Amino acid sequence: MAQTRVILDESEIPTHWYNIVADLKNPPAPPLGPDGQPVSPDKMLAIFPETILEQEMSAERWIPIPEEVRKIYALWRPSPLCRAERLEKMLDTPAKIFYKYEGVSPAGSHKPNSAVAQAYLNKIAGTKRLVTETGAGQWGSSLSLAGQMFGLPVRIFMVKVSYEQKPYRRLMMQTWGGEVLASPTNLTKAGRDVLARDPQNPGSLGIAISEAVEEAVTTPGTKYALGSVLNHVLLHQTVIGLEAKKQFEKIGEYPDMMFAPCGGGCNFAGATFPFLGDAAAGDARAQKIRFVAVEPASCPTLTKGVYAYDYGDASGYTPLMKMYTLGHDFMPPGIHAGGLRYHGDSPLISQLYHEKLIEAVAVPQVATFEAGVMFARAEGIIPAPESAHAIRACIDEALRCKQTGEPKTLFFNLSGHGHFDMSAYESYFAGKLEDFEYPAEAIQESLRHLPKVG
Ligand SMILES: *Cc1c(COP(=O)(O)O)cnc(C)c1O
Repeated sequence: MAQTRVILDESEIPTHWYNIVADLKNPPAPPLGPDGQPVSPDKMLAIFPETILEQEMSAERWIPIPEEVRKIYALWRPSPLCRAERLEKMLDTPAKIFYKYEGVSPAGSHKPNSAVAQAYLNKIAGTKRLVTETGAGQWGSSLSLAGQMFGLPVRIFMVKVSYEQKPYRRLMMQTWGGEVLASPTNLTKAGRDVLARDPQNPGSLGIAISEAVEEAVTTPGTKYALGSVLNHVLLHQTVIGLEAKKQFEKIGEYPDMMFAPCGGGCNFAGATFPFLGDAAAGDARAQKIRFVAVEPASCPTLTKGVYAYDYGDASGYTPLMKMYTLGHDFMPPGIHAGGLRYHGDSPLISQLYHEKLIEAVAVPQVATFEAGVMFARAEGIIPAPESAHAIRACIDEALRCKQTGEPKTLFFNLSGHGHFDMSAYESYFAGKLEDFEYPAEAIQESLRHLPKVG
């Protein structure tokens, strides 16, 4: 019998995060301010502590993971690498399928890998309080957990529709001591402006980001935390790929293709960057891996967006970042994978995609849930809708292998479980889920509003 689950010892939790910036062919394009000039570090210090900014701008290849962070990681890490043999049989494929399961964290996804690091780095920098935003609640719950671990109060601006529709995510945050507010609120100017125009406004991630950033800038001792996109967040997630490398080595296997869902890009980066690092260092096996970022057909940032400077939020509040974007005012259709409804992508992933070191594919919603249910019935774990995107693309490849007879080794990152997304599964079972056509016109319209740079 092939080994089903590869478990590492607690002592094998990585001691350093891997920083891909050290191995890029070209230096990353800097974030720009409203004047078109690179943003000065002191402006960023109003939002993030020095400890985080240092990592954000670092070009060091290896960055030590503080012992205090490793100790909290040990509550659920190393996460298992599993062989999906029952799924292979169900598909009747000669391919081997492996997945790394990040749903074992207390919050149920990969997001605490960075939340814990960010809470710790804020704590040692003297931050008294953290603010953030959350859409579906995955990031808010991870930061509440992390704040609780280090004694830092956390306030979360939660998009009002989600606040009303996802009471259990909200209660999870409250259980860990997080203070959850339905955004827009009347506590910030950004929120009051929106409510003055439209008292019934249901909120959006863009508005919630504006509220959280405004509060961080105007409140001494309070800093902002972001759950994806930025370099330091991707850095923290590399524990996933570093562990996966050791686990593959233990069983004498190696991936030919790696898949991960891609919203802001942090779990994709976490799983793949350590292998891309080996490729950059001349490892011939790593150079043969195909890295595939999987996104929804309704929000196809990499596959249909443009590579340009754009805002990170809807209201134009953040610095400009060079990234693949659908336009900051693009409103993706209301699909059931909140974590993938982002108009942009991480600048690092965008650069790697532009330089053709990684690939991307877009998959439709109904087929994604079909894959999620197949996986649950074969392997038992109910995947988050975001994770099901990677499962869809991986299953498609396994079925191609069946056609060609190629015994490829496939890997996907199972970024989280779907226990708080059962209403989305309910819609799928009731036949109420829709495949939104690629919204070409909405994207074209939005791309006309890209900020002019240079
Ligand atoms: C947030 C989230 C994602 C998407 O975010 P990335 O930054 O692209 O990783 C994917 N899967 C799960 C389970 C999430 O919670």
